Amino acid sequence: MCTAENSSRRNILKSMLGVAAFASLGGCATAMMKNTGARYARPLSRQPFVAPRISHDRIVRVITGLRPFRPKGFVVKREQFDDKTIIHNYGHGGGGISLSWGSSALAVREAMGMPIGKAAVVGGGIMGLTSARLLQDAGWQVSIYTRDVSRHTTSNVGAGQWGPTSVFEEGVASKAFEEQYKFAARIAHHAFQNLSGNPAYGISFAENYFLGNEPQEESYYLRELPELFTSVAHLEPHEHPFPFPYVERMVTMLVQPAIFLRRVRDDFYLAGGTIVVRNFSNRAEILSLDEAVIFNCTGLGAKALFDDEDLMPIKGQLVFMQPDPAVDYLTIGGGSDVTYMFPRRGEILLGGSYQFDDWSTHVEADVTDRIIADNKAIFDNMRL
Ligand SMILES: Cc1cc2nc3c(=O)[nH]c(=O)nc-3n(C[C@H](O)[C@H](O)[C@H](O)COP(=O)(O)OP(=O)(O)OC[C@H]3O[C@@H](n4cnc5c(N)ncnc54)[C@H](O)[C@@H]3O)c2cc1C
Repeated sequence: MCTAENSSRRNILKSMLGVAAFASLGGCATAMMKNTGARYARPLSRQPFVAPRISHDRIVRVITGLRPFRPKGFVVKREQFDDKTIIHNYGHGGGGISLSWGSSALAVREAMGMPIGKAAVVGGGIMGLTSARLLQDAGWQVSIYTRDVSRHTTSNVGAGQWGPTSVFEEGVASKAFEEQYKFAARIAHHAFQNLSGNPAYGISFAENYFLGNEPQEESYYLRELPELFTSVAHLEPHEHPFPFPYVERMVTMLVQPAIFLRRVRDDFYLAGGTIVVRNFSNRAEILSLDEAVIFNCTGLGAKALFDDEDLMPIKGQLVFMQPDPAVDYLTIGGGSDVTYMFPRRGEILLGGSYQFDDWSTHVEADVTDRIIADNKAIFDNMRL
């Protein structure tokens, strides 16, 4: 149901994603398409722009995932249950890939001063794996207990742009949370950048172009964390090939979750960790684990396990097309709803959707059609 509250929340999240303008190609854009076919200066790539080819018959897979969203922001805190210490690290919305190392560093900091020994991590997504690795580095002997191995988690669905977006609602989250968020973002950025030179982690830098028919709101994270984004600029129409009058650019990282999660899991094994596949039906089962220190990295699972009424899903759908190694930039916006294109080693990823409080996980054909149509309208009209 589309209530006023939902619609305002949607607008906030879309603007955080940097997608303020949703009108389809208008007169101005059409006029611009007749513009010059000049070459364009690029800050990162030395190649000319190439348009991805978008069509239904190039689709290789369509998937959905549920972002674990809390309007008040993610939870990192320590809680005592008799002789067990639970350290929570969940609820990162649409930015959990980006925040992972930083949020997990905050969580591991909660264990400082405790006698180092055995620790349990519940959850094998990106928060569980990064928490486990940081615990190992601090000397702990770690076991991960999880219902799903990493390739079956939401983390493996994440699109992977490094931009901690749609993590909280401005005005609802506290100022103290915002400070925690910025701290986590800075640590995480540092950690990802540090790994980006090793192709085995699936992290690369790329130009991002935000497309619109109207001036775009600056996203919260660009405003508050400008030092984490490079080559940020508003581009004039003659400076880019996109059929839009308003184009903003920045350079940031793209993380390929399937590659990254597998590598971090391997690092975890190499450091002596164990993974136990286990589904916990309730909190008491978690508290019955042998370990005295237990990290709760269960994402959306925390809603039922720890009675968190603030946690809600935001369903997202992604369409994967055949790979095209010639495409070396990301686009965000420019469609009739949430729209983006991220090139990966094994596929071209097209997004997306933000479906609030929707627990369903099935693929929706009309969403696929809309994602294809919106992206096709952009790339078939590039001025190359
Ligand atoms: C379509 C989409 C696009 C996204 N794009 C981006 C992006 O571009 N950039 C970005 O930074 N983020 C993005 N995200 C968000 C990101 O994927 C999530 O914030 C992140 O994956 C959450 O990680 P997590 O480890 O907390 O949760 P999960 O990956 O869901 O892991 C939770 C773990 O807990 C386990 N668990 C849960 N309940 C139980 C239980 N009862 N018993 C045992 N185990 C349990 C699960 O099995 C799983 O292993 C996107 C998400 C989606 C869906």
